[in-house]
Amino acid sequence: MTDVARHLADLIRAGGPISIAEFMRVCLTVRGDSYYQRGDPFGAAGDFVTAPEISQIFGELIGLWCADVWRQLGAPARCTLAELGPGRGTLMKDVLRAAGIVPGFRDAVSVVFVEVSEPLKRVQRDALGGVAPVVWRDRVEDIDAQSPLIVIANEFFDALPVRQFVRTLDGWAERCVGLGEGDALRFGLAPAANVVVPAPLHGAALGCVFEISPMRAAAASAVGDLVARVGGAVLAIDYGFEGPAVGDTLQALRSHRFVDVLDEPGSADLTTHVDFTALGEAFAGAGLRVASLTGQGAFLNALGAAARVAKLKAGATLEQAAVLDSAYQRLTGDEAMGSLFKVLCAFAPASLQPAGFASS
Ligand code: SAH
Repeated sequence: MTDVARHLADLIRAGGPISIAEFMRVCLTVRGDSYYQRGDPFGAAGDFVTAPEISQIFGELIGLWCADVWRQLGAPARCTLAELGPGRGTLMKDVLRAAGIVPGFRDAVSVVFVEVSEPLKRVQRDALGGVAPVVWRDRVEDIDAQSPLIVIANEFFDALPVRQFVRTLDGWAERCVGLGEGDALRFGLAPAANVVVPAPLHGAALGCVFEISPMRAAAASAVGDLVARVGGAVLAIDYGFEGPAVGDTLQALRSHRFVDVLDEPGSADLTTHVDFTALGEAFAGAGLRVASLTGQGAFLNALGAAARVAKLKAGATLEQAAVLDSAYQRLTGDEAMGSLFKVLCAFAPASLQPAGFASS
């Protein structure tokens, strides 16, 4: 039995069934063998692969995007570049390398990583060593922004816990995790407290699941408050949908395969799809302007992904060219990450025109 499993059982014995949000929090972050504290989950030998690990063009284009926002902010002499959940540090490395061609940008920026995982902090330190000085913060609330702030978050918000509510004959009930026979974890239902289900979902069929993420909203509000105060932009890229909508999107991934959410807690990545409407509302509530949501494929293409691939291919072997083509397809193709992954940008002042979004 894992320490996470023991801890979950103790919590449930002491206080009764726990919410899905509490279950996710314990499985992912709080114990020594919680998923993000165990080690490095990325890559072919790990559990999943993210966009910056697929191709350098992802980080390079985002780097140029950041430099353009900085220029629109008036090329301030100091600017904080924060990344939420930076994984292996690959994205930031590519961002800084590409944006380095813009005069003044590298001298102006200082890098802040918001990271909860101790093993990944070490990987990030190795990746960025010699590239740029970095400071780490455990929570977004702890970012110290005295100068304009540009925030990048790729596949960060999907890792933050959600609460789930299920439509029953008696209205909505909260899905929870309790103990069954032999102390095995099992799903159950508890009376739903403090939940406001949006009007369009009031007629949802029995068994439908509705998700909210107070932690996601709190993180977005905290970042939004900072950006509203000092000026700047947030770029959040993730898989998700435009809510409100019903759907049980909680998934567990181990070795690139979907597995049972309750099986060996702490040993699989747990995520949910991001409700971009709710996320956008949290940023707007903090006073930021929110650009119309776009797909990852459209965003990267608007930033010149195809031209960048063509340029890299010009100096490549046939084999390398095939790898570049396939990475481009994975990042931008509708059948791959191009439309399931979406890009949200929130910014201040409202006069900014971040690249890659329809101006509205
Ligand atoms: N952005 C990276 C990694 C995505 S995985 C990439 O695209 O490759 C999610 C990242 O968020 C990991 O670095 C993980 O350790 C971090 N993370 C997850 N939950 C977190 C939390 N509650 N607070 C801070 N970081 C968190």
